[in-house]
Amino acid sequence: MKADRIHNFNAGPAALPLPVLEEIQESFLNFAGSGMSVTEISHRSKWFDDVINDAVARTKRILKLDDRFHVLFLQGGASLQFCMAPMNLLGADDSADYVNTGTWSTKAIKEAEIQGKSINVVASSEDRNFSYIPRSIAFNAEAVYAHITSNNTIKGTQWAQFPETGGVPIVSDMSSDIFSRQLDVEKFGMIYAGAQKNMGPAGVCLVIIRDDLLARTPGEIPSMLRYTTYAEKNSMYNTPPCFAIYTVQLVLKWLEETIGGLGKMAALNHKKAGLIYDIIDQSGFYRGTAEKESRSLMNVTFRLPNTDLEKTFVAEATENGMGGLKGHRSVGGCRASIYNPTPLAAVAALVDFMKAFERKNG
Ligand SMILES: *Cc1c(COP(=O)(O)O)cnc(C)c1O
Repeated sequence: MKADRIHNFNAGPAALPLPVLEEIQESFLNFAGSGMSVTEISHRSKWFDDVINDAVARTKRILKLDDRFHVLFLQGGASLQFCMAPMNLLGADDSADYVNTGTWSTKAIKEAEIQGKSINVVASSEDRNFSYIPRSIAFNAEAVYAHITSNNTIKGTQWAQFPETGGVPIVSDMSSDIFSRQLDVEKFGMIYAGAQKNMGPAGVCLVIIRDDLLARTPGEIPSMLRYTTYAEKNSMYNTPPCFAIYTVQLVLKWLEETIGGLGKMAALNHKKAGLIYDIIDQSGFYRGTAEKESRSLMNVTFRLPNTDLEKTFVAEATENGMGGLKGHRSVGGCRASIYNPTPLAAVAALVDFMKAFERKNG
């Protein structure tokens, strides 16, 4: 029942817009007059063609991508991209720069190194437990790409501005902040994002790749690991994750038609995060874990005075209809993930709860 739904602050898979879930429910037994569920139709049908083409068109429109960019849907999550990006983009004599800002960047670096690729970790925030985004980084002019993680889901940091790389294309893992703000796409050669944080269910990964990087894909790697395979077949070389792509399409439609586009979405995201950070900044009780200039608008990470209080906080929040507030097991504390679909009302409820909890326990 709709009335039984909680305020969902899960980090991923995460909340989806209620109107999207309702549209899926409504169309589930008979999709677009087909007499079949979207999970039963052929991916070679006109019905699914319309779904994937609309998802691609909306992605291009929302992010203002020009014709140099290809929009692909892959499986294997963002984690497969840690491996595929260096595999496709770096030849024997090439190198790439990586910035290490946390758990996911560390994994991306590891997957490039496993393959024996030449990479340079040009900056890292590991010295202060990944609590900040490094500044004034010296990128290598000859690097094929510069890899960053735009939002660090676990550590609660985010690049507020993208770095100056001297023209080297940025390859960004945007799993947890894709479609959350406007982008200067000129800086990017490739963007990838697992859907399950900001735009859909688990099971599909969006890859946006520019012509010149796509052209680097070597012929001698397996078809399923080659970007050109997906680019040449509109992501339908083999059976794509149809249901996940359909959900992404509906989320993008919601973003454009209900929210009103990326400008409006970004303003709303600022407002939501601001409400929680204001409490943290005003209180001696809650303590943010990320440095102020680096903190994330998507994942608000914070501690309470001790771990017992943190446990009580999460337990009482659950009793009050708020879920997913426990911090990642590698950092502890609390985390409120407030991606695009999280409504302002959910954040307002959390803020009220935080104030009441502090009054009682502070
Ligand atoms: C969740 C996450 C990943 C891992 O995504 P999978 O789809 O599970 O592989 C990678 N990068 C970031 C930034 C994430 O938040």
